[in-house]
Amino acid sequence: MKQEKAIIVFSGGQDSTTCLFWAKERFREIEAVTFDYGQRHRLEIECAKAITEELGIKHHILDMSLLNQLAPNALTRDDIEVEDGEEGGLPSTFVPGRNLLFLSFAGVLASQVGAKHIVTGVCETDFSGYPDCRDIFVKSLNVTLNLSMDDTFVIDTPLMWLNKAQTWELADQLGALEFVRKRTLTCYNGVIADGCGECPACKLRKRGLDEYLSFKKES
Ligand SMILES: [Zn+2]
Repeated sequence: MKQEKAIIVFSGGQDSTTCLFWAKERFREIEAVTFDYGQRHRLEIECAKAITEELGIKHHILDMSLLNQLAPNALTRDDIEVEDGEEGGLPSTFVPGRNLLFLSFAGVLASQVGAKHIVTGVCETDFSGYPDCRDIFVKSLNVTLNLSMDDTFVIDTPLMWLNKAQTWELADQLGALEFVRKRTLTCYNGVIADGCGECPACKLRKRGLDEYLSFKKES
């Protein structure tokens, strides 16, 4: 029997789209929420819209443009280049506390639409230095959300311990490999599907896909 209702934190990228398919299998009803924080590529929002429309999922877009005031950075301003972090440092796309804010707003939305579950594609395996993507943080926030609204939310993190290859494997198990491959946007240069091939996000995505496909061929 499927569980109740869930809100999916949804960016239109590989990870959150895989989570969307994961949630479709588990919950009676799902709704997606996308945060509009003035992404450098408006295509990201369009991509999220197109995917939810095609899958017939109710889609909320919340205005989070105030993030620009708090932390202007490479994701939202055109005059700063996206770079890999220094050795052990944070990448230049880092917005402190962004996931804290997004998950908190998702919690408020969940409360309003009567959803007990909040699904997010955060992941500790490819840990890129975002402290609010760690499992311990998500568990801590889960307690805080429950206390703040006197409710019993469950934050689900299906990708928490998966690497990129395993995330592709999960998409494949959900019958969504081709969909995720062709319809999602991960590329920092705004190129849909397999992307520009040059930016750090494309390289990470491709490495994972190649790894999974060669594993699949062997087995
Ligand atoms: Zn790219």
